[in-house]
Amino acid sequence: MSDTLRIKRFNARPVLAPMKMPLRTSSGAVDKAPLVLIDCETDQGVRGHSYIFAITPVALKPLTEMVRAMAELIAGDELIPHDIERKLTRAFALLDLAGIQRLAQSGIDMAVWDALAHGRNLPLARLLGGVPKPIRAYNSKGLGIMPPEAAADEAQKLIAEGFDAAKIRLGRPDANDDLKTVRAVRKAVGDGVTLMCDFNQALTVADAVRRGAMLDGEGLLWIEEPIRHDDYAGCAEVAAATQTPIQIGENFDSAFSMQTALDHHACDFVMPDAQRIGGVTGWLRAAALAHAAGVEMSSHLFSEVSAHLMTVTPTAHWLEYVDWADAVLREPLKVKDGHVLPGEQPGSGIAWDEAAVKKYLVE
Ligand SMILES: [Mg+2]
Repeated sequence: MSDTLRIKRFNARPVLAPMKMPLRTSSGAVDKAPLVLIDCETDQGVRGHSYIFAITPVALKPLTEMVRAMAELIAGDELIPHDIERKLTRAFALLDLAGIQRLAQSGIDMAVWDALAHGRNLPLARLLGGVPKPIRAYNSKGLGIMPPEAAADEAQKLIAEGFDAAKIRLGRPDANDDLKTVRAVRKAVGDGVTLMCDFNQALTVADAVRRGAMLDGEGLLWIEEPIRHDDYAGCAEVAAATQTPIQIGENFDSAFSMQTALDHHACDFVMPDAQRIGGVTGWLRAAALAHAAGVEMSSHLFSEVSAHLMTVTPTAHWLEYVDWADAVLREPLKVKDGHVLPGEQPGSGIAWDEAAVKKYLVE
């Protein structure tokens, strides 16, 4: 096989993958994961795989179409992720690489890197100069907005799956109900378990400062997205007033927005999302910024690819574990003793269970 791999074509397939545990956050409920499965096919038969998460089924079709349209721009190009990133960034400079375009471009980037890893017969971690190793992870699947007793039960189930950390969704209309839930979960799981919480942008600045003070002393590792994600000045106000570290980053739409947040001291920790930060290419840039700023960096969703990316992230903190793509994966990511275990198989380990894909395909 020659060293030069060229892109032949991309496949983009929309699926609604059933989730084992539905999630209700302060911004709505999800019980099926709307995913776009992406395959990058090369001229020598090597293939790369990735998926992106449309968040809502409403966005599934436009996102699939965007991946297909964007992929046409790079058909025939050599498999060089940084060159492809530069080309697509130029092509979308006037429309902007944000929203659906950014998700599509990140999905393409992850599939391209995956194909490159397959072409070299290396796991993604090794292609990036690292090594697959256990990565500390928290179980983020459940603990949506629910009554305290239900949250306490669910927390025990999440820990029983092999974790010693979990995240609680907060943002109930009455702050006391949030506090009751945190205390019920802590009581159920004990002091040895790490707990984070996530408001999913539900609060105003004043309410976030008040609820932050209420939660200080509850032993939470972080308070995530208390207010609107792009109000960095407001986030900085909340972070300055709150002892518990403030976590943001799943909505950074590039390493540039992460730098702006860091410039504002908007948070104590960052957690970029692989499909918004710009795939593998964007992640590596963000990881360098977090390193330079001395800020702990966690991942958001996309457990399979993030497991490899965290191995080369200098300030790697916690991997957010969800299993939302498991229904269509041939081999789901393994979990043991509070860690995910990226394997030595080529790429990120993503391969489709084609029978399941056929079943959940929505076109
Ligand atoms: Mg979040």
